[in-house]
Amino acid sequence: MIKEDIEKYEKAGKIAKEVRDYAREIVKPGMILLEIAKKIEDKIYSLNASPAFPVNLSIDEIAAHYHPNIDDKTMAKGLLKIDIGIHIDGFIADTALTLDLTQDRIHKKLIEATELALDNALKSLAKNPSLHEIGSIIQETIESKGFSPIINLSGHSIEKYEIHAGLTIPNYGNNNNQKLTDGVYAIEPFATTGEGKIYEGNPGNIYSIINMKNTRSPHTRKMLDYFYKKYQTLPFSLREAQEKFGVLARLSLKELETSKIIQSYAQLIESSKKPVAQAEHTFIKSDNSIIIITK
Ligand code: MN
Ligand code: MN
Repeated sequence: MIKEDIEKYEKAGKIAKEVRDYAREIVKPGMILLEIAKKIEDKIYSLNASPAFPVNLSIDEIAAHYHPNIDDKTMAKGLLKIDIGIHIDGFIADTALTLDLTQDRIHKKLIEATELALDNALKSLAKNPSLHEIGSIIQETIESKGFSPIINLSGHSIEKYEIHAGLTIPNYGNNNNQKLTDGVYAIEPFATTGEGKIYEGNPGNIYSIINMKNTRSPHTRKMLDYFYKKYQTLPFSLREAQEKFGVLARLSLKELETSKIIQSYAQLIESSKKPVAQAEHTFIKSDNSIIIITK
């Protein structure tokens, strides 16, 4: 990887860390998720970066992919995962933290288990492990604390303007003996007191463009152009569509989804409806060195 690209990733990572620290500081039980989302977004723009996806604010058994819409009254409570993506000219940093907004000791232990699993996985990178070995480390760490990893959620490779760029880094010891080549990756263990699988639930109010082509209605076309120019194929929120394009936004998004121009992301729900914790960092592997950009 060339030096200029590494520097952009490092800059995105540094901002991601700053935004994560900010989120940890401002979020309190009972705060409206909408307000949290806006504050985090404002913070990202104030640091001269852009969101790589709408901040995910997922409570308890919702493992990921929830973003409040414009009139959402949902309040912060329970085990809250805050998943933040930052990009600078398409160079992405992806990081997450989990806050326990209860007094439940199990929640604290669940958070510790994901953080330790992430730490152990990152430490193992120096020995050039296979994907199987990374997954095993995550699984064993989480299971040793008495919890289950979520096996159908995983870390991933990252490329310019592409958050999930093809390769997955498992959260359990699968049978992939492939090793990581030079590139950018996120590792993101999820742990739960439940059975450790997720299913797709209600819409999470997040979309992305999958096939940029013409659409008939001028209003819809205008909205599509706006999102393509701003995010290319990176995810965007129903909320931003509602803020910029008013009450017709939801209908226009439906039209684009039906024409298979955009896709909608569903909330990812733990199948036994048990609480989920998540931790995540992004790193660069280049010339046998590992740089964790979000730490
Ligand atoms: Mn993430
Ligand atoms: Mn990720």
